[in-house]
Parts: sequence; C-alpha cells; structure tokens
Amino acid sequence: MFSLKKFVTVGLTTLWMVGVLTDAHAEPVKGLIEVAADVYKYDPGDNYSSMFLVSDEGVIVVESANTIHAKGLLASIRSVTEKPVLYLLQSHNHWDHTGGGQVFRDVGAKILVHKEAYDWMKANPHHDMILPNETWNGKRKDITVGNTTIEMHYVGMSHGLGMTVFRVAQQKVAYIADIVTPERVLFSVVPDFNINEWKRALTEIEALDFDKAVFSHSHSKSPFGSKADVVAQREFIEDLQTAIFTEFKKGTQFYKIAQAVKLPKYENWAMYDEWLAMNVWRMLTDISMGPFPWRPEPN
Ligand SMILES: [Zn+2]
Repeated sequence: MFSLKKFVTVGLTTLWMVGVLTDAHAEPVKGLIEVAADVYKYDPGDNYSSMFLVSDEGVIVVESANTIHAKGLLASIRSVTEKPVLYLLQSHNHWDHTGGGQVFRDVGAKILVHKEAYDWMKANPHHDMILPNETWNGKRKDITVGNTTIEMHYVGMSHGLGMTVFRVAQQKVAYIADIVTPERVLFSVVPDFNINEWKRALTEIEALDFDKAVFSHSHSKSPFGSKADVVAQREFIEDLQTAIFTEFKKGTQFYKIAQAVKLPKYENWAMYDEWLAMNVWRMLTDISMGPFPWRPEPN
C-alpha cells in the first residue's frame, strides 16, 4: 500500500541512520537502523520499510517491496554481514509488497509466503513479482536459523490475503505491514480491508508479546514503534465508527455525513484533511452494503 512521503520525519530519522556504521564499508548506510540486537530496519525514504535479522548461520529478510528497494536492502544487509541470505518472507499478496523477490532469489534465498497470498500471486502476475518457492498454511509457522527464531502469525481476514505478522521471539520485535500505520489516518478509500475483521486482527496482535515494532509504513517521528501504535490504530477505527453513528443519531443526511465527521483528536495525523472524508465513505459503504471483502474461512 502506498503512503505519501513523510517530510517531517526525514531529519530525525537521518540522525538515527547515521548511528549505524558498517563493518564492511565503515560508512553509514542510508535508511539502516538497528532496532534491537541483530534486528535491523531498512527505510530508505521510499515509503516502505523492511526488516532483517542476522543469526549466526544466516540472514532472514521480511518484505522486499520492489526491485529498487530490494537492491538497497540487500546492500544494507551486506554492509553488516557476509552471511548468506536464507529466507525472504512476505507479509501478504499485494504487488507493492511482494515485488523485488528476484533480487533475493539470485543470492540463493528461499521465498516463503502464506498459501492464500500465493494463490492470488499465481493468478495475478506482475512484472516485478516472482512466485515464492514455498508456501505455508494454517495460523502459525516458526522458522529457526541458528540462534534466531522468527514466528509467522497468520491473522486472517484483515487486509489483502495471507496477512502475516512477524515476531522475532528473542528480541521481542514485531513486523506489521499495512494493518498498522502510525500517526496517519486510514489509507485513502481503505482498499481491501475488512473493517471488523481488521479490528479483530489488531486485538490479536495486541495479545502478542513484543516491545518494539517495525511497520511497512509509518508517519511517526520515532524510528520504530511499539504496541501503543497497534492500540492507537484500533482506537482510531473505533472513534471513526462512533463519530459516524453519532451523525446517524443526529439525523444527518447520509450523503452529508462524510463532510460532517470531524475527529479533532487526530487532526495532527498525516493526511487528516485529505483522506478523512474518504475514510468515512468507506465505512458508510461497509455499513450499508455489509462487510467487504469477505470470504469463507479456509477449511
Ligand atoms: Zn497491502
């Protein structure tokens, strides 16, 4: 999912980036931040953040986004370790997250995605997306490489297909794509989100044990987030729904509700002026038509 450039955060983020000096080249790598021991976030300022973890036997990467991003990501990995990249893990089906896989296949990495996402990717090819080598099914799969374990939690209907939240067990770091974007209202017309299932998924994520979180998109000044961002995301959706029902109770005409709803608590969040009315329209269509997208639970 695309999000607009976060001009305000660039200066502060840059300060953090400067802190990461490389073993191989002894110079800072743009957008590279060590979030916890051996866990790195790569955010080159292209609105996509990836994560990678370095174990004693090799590297696990989460999210390649697209070829340009993936090449920078691989270079950032090479700046901290020469160990082999063993896995590329992808969060969900969408083209803007699953692009760039060839960069990692070329260095021998195995690409892994939930089966729901794989089936969609197979049916909907894209010039920058290759099919993963392997799929997994069910609610949970763990990958252990050397001294590091990463858990994959399938959170079900929420956004896209096969939506997976990652947790680095030992360092207690989560990686969350699209279903939490700190300090920004919902993405434009809220595409491919099942609203109520999304809230359920956020509640499940809140129950996971993690201290720090890396988000695929963020408008926060902080270089990484926490569970508080997950809670804030759920509360924003709930506050938006409450504000809409308040207009219903007041008897506001259906077609005027989008202009009437204001949420001053969030007026400093990115895209508040531009997208809040679109967010309301998406909620209104859900309320009047019923939840969409929807699918039966897999057997
Ligand atoms: Zn998406």
